[in-house]
Amino acid sequence: MNNKDLAELLFPGGMTTEEIEKKYPKRGLKSGAEVTRFAPSPTGFMHLGGFYQALIDYNIAKRSGGVFYLRIEDTDQKREISGASEVIMDVLTGYDFMPDEYQLKGGVTIGNYGPYYQSERKEIYRAYAKKLVSEGKAFPCFCKKTEGLEDVKKMREKKFAVGLLEEKDPCRNLTFEQIQENIKAGKKFAIRLKSNGDGKEKIKFTDCIRGEIEILANSKDAILLKNDGLPTYHFAHAIDDTLMGTTTVVRGEEWLPSYPLHHEIFDALGFKRPKYIHSPVIYKLNEKGNKRKLSKRKDPEADMRFYDQEGYPKQAVVEYLINLINSNFEIWRKNNPNADYREFPFDGFKNTANTPLFDLVKLNDIAKDVISKLTAEQCYEYLLYWAKENCQEKVEFLTKNREYVTKILNIDREKPKPRKDLYKWSMFFDLFDYMFGEPKTYEEVDSKDDFEMVLRAYQHYLDLSTKDVWFAKVKEMAAQLGYATDNSEYKKNPNAFKGNVAKVCEYIRIAITGRKNSPDLFEIMTLLGEEKVKEILKKFTK
Ligand code: GLU
Repeated sequence: MNNKDLAELLFPGGMTTEEIEKKYPKRGLKSGAEVTRFAPSPTGFMHLGGFYQALIDYNIAKRSGGVFYLRIEDTDQKREISGASEVIMDVLTGYDFMPDEYQLKGGVTIGNYGPYYQSERKEIYRAYAKKLVSEGKAFPCFCKKTEGLEDVKKMREKKFAVGLLEEKDPCRNLTFEQIQENIKAGKKFAIRLKSNGDGKEKIKFTDCIRGEIEILANSKDAILLKNDGLPTYHFAHAIDDTLMGTTTVVRGEEWLPSYPLHHEIFDALGFKRPKYIHSPVIYKLNEKGNKRKLSKRKDPEADMRFYDQEGYPKQAVVEYLINLINSNFEIWRKNNPNADYREFPFDGFKNTANTPLFDLVKLNDIAKDVISKLTAEQCYEYLLYWAKENCQEKVEFLTKNREYVTKILNIDREKPKPRKDLYKWSMFFDLFDYMFGEPKTYEEVDSKDDFEMVLRAYQHYLDLSTKDVWFAKVKEMAAQLGYATDNSEYKKNPNAFKGNVAKVCEYIRIAITGRKNSPDLFEIMTLLGEEKVKEILKKFTK
């Protein structure tokens, strides 16, 4: 059969690949400049793992003076959720990983290598499918099973397909006449690759973080173009990443098993292969201590919106992820406490963990550190911003009480060793509940009688004129009540005292804050004011 005629029968007219390639000239970048892309499917939310890839992409492009672009892979239209690409763009811009090239749905396009939505590139895929058919490298398949396409999810779940022998598709043997008849009868067709693989040959390739990988070559007549005219991921990947000039493809490791197919498709198209980084899936420990994938369904922290809703500083989220990507970051951060994380010299992702484990406690620690370096004014602005976006009912209060809230935020802050307890803005009102009415709960005291005795006495010793006076009075009272005011004396002879002055402070602290541990007590009491403190003391000694 004449392949050219077949190609024309299947795809009459249309653009040629030469015409298309003229529209995608080589990017005039300096040597060494890398072009990376983030290529999510618009499924309605941004997974932490996707953001992790975007971060690597951004870094590779920016470090090399290259280009980072966003491509929306919306060829599986059944899965598409409207507004999804906006969610992705919001996350990228919110975290200041603005792509150099992108397209807003129904709006502006920035960049000359678009369209950046795959669903708008149908003509391009068609032209390459036609070319492959005309060269005898692909063929039409009329089987019903192509209608739904190989379910992307199932394909992803497939194990590393080493050793899997794929059958050749029966439609590769159709005659020109049979094909003609099918077309006349209005039958829909998909286009399959005519694989050269024999199921035995192996190929090698280098993954930039995993090193050299040997894997069984593709032997499957995989679908390139679905019968709705849209490409499979595999076909679109080869075409788009080539035309759009991608130099390094960063994608999830779930794509590793399909690498051999991509290898063969690139060859069939005559394209040069890009470099690859297959980034590891992020895991989490379940209650039983077993590892499982961070799941969109089960783990709220898999969704990037979670961090905004909870009010995590963006810097903390990014630093946490960099830490997962490259364990050297922690040491670097220690040595460069005030540097911008963008200055961190990634060293080719050599330390990338094989199975990064998501750990909220670690994120919280990083966030505490980040927040502890902010001024009270900055904290107030972040808190207000968080409330405006996520907690409207607090906005009025915050706006009206700017000075008071800023003072609260200033307790134990802007000091050489600032207090590190706040790690997300949503916890502010709970953490400082005692500054806004009463504490929600009280820690238990060891002796209710002593507690009341101290509070009763303290009503006569309360003096907030200065910190020194305040503490001198506390000590004076402690001595009166039989507590030691000098710790070394107390240690020498503990039985001679009821306890030491620290115990007295603990009682006062619990009465006021509900906690044994709180920021500077004098500052808290001063902010609350004498009246309020007296009221509290009375409440416990009625
Ligand atoms: N749309 C694919 C995904 O979401 C992109 C994979 C890639 O980056 O090549 O998994």
